[in-house]
Amino acid sequence: MLELRQVSKVYGLGAAEVHALREVSLEVDPGMMVAVMGPSGSGKSTLLTIAGSLEEPTSGQVLVAGHDLATMSRNDKARLRRQSIGYVFQDFNLLPGLTGAENVALPLELDGVSARRAREAGLRALDALGLADRASNYPDQLSGGERQRVAIARAVVGDRQLLLADEPSGALDSENGETVMRMIHAACRQGVAAVVVTHDAQLASWADRVVFIRDGRIVDQTAPALGPESLLGQDR
Ligand code: ADP
Repeated sequence: MLELRQVSKVYGLGAAEVHALREVSLEVDPGMMVAVMGPSGSGKSTLLTIAGSLEEPTSGQVLVAGHDLATMSRNDKARLRRQSIGYVFQDFNLLPGLTGAENVALPLELDGVSARRAREAGLRALDALGLADRASNYPDQLSGGERQRVAIARAVVGDRQLLLADEPSGALDSENGETVMRMIHAACRQGVAAVVVTHDAQLASWADRVVFIRDGRIVDQTAPALGPESLLGQDR
């Protein structure tokens, strides 16, 4: 679903040059959840913005759903972002004047889907993440954890196949952080590919794979032996 091939990103010029990514290669299959960990400034956000076609790499190739971003027109990339990629950030960015369901339906409406069909798809996405009873609530009537779950529903509404999340649990307590990771995990079980930046090793253990990045380089990749639920003896 997502493939980075030898991707490098250099910001600035000459003495001010910053090598944010150095020949990073990463493959994320449909249904797979990858956590990215690393110190501040190591290139995690750059990796997400390049994977999400929000910035171009200095060198290397980025493929999303088999399309090489470098060969796509601006319009095609915009459509890919609208239809296939969902973004979740630390602060939830829900629109305060819209209910949960309306927030989730918004990306579809912006993409030209009729209001009724967008609303139905929005309710389905909320239902799939266990939030059906919050659909009519406005963001200020939701807890921080619920707001972030609505943001995740919005990121996977319709047929989005790639979910990119930058510290989605950063502003939450550990219980809500777990819930958010559980939601992303649930989305992956429905076939979504997810890349999730987190500082928290416990939360990273929800992922199928953890990638460590340092000074713009992937330094280690591990498949965690046991996720938190397997420790509790539950089926993930
Ligand atoms: P992280 O998300 O791991 O904290 P970033 O990807 O934000 O790291 O940043 C990686 C490096 O690239 C840092 O040194 C940062 O200062 C630099 N950087 C990121 N974005 C820009 C930019 N738009 N212009 C210049 N330098 C940038």
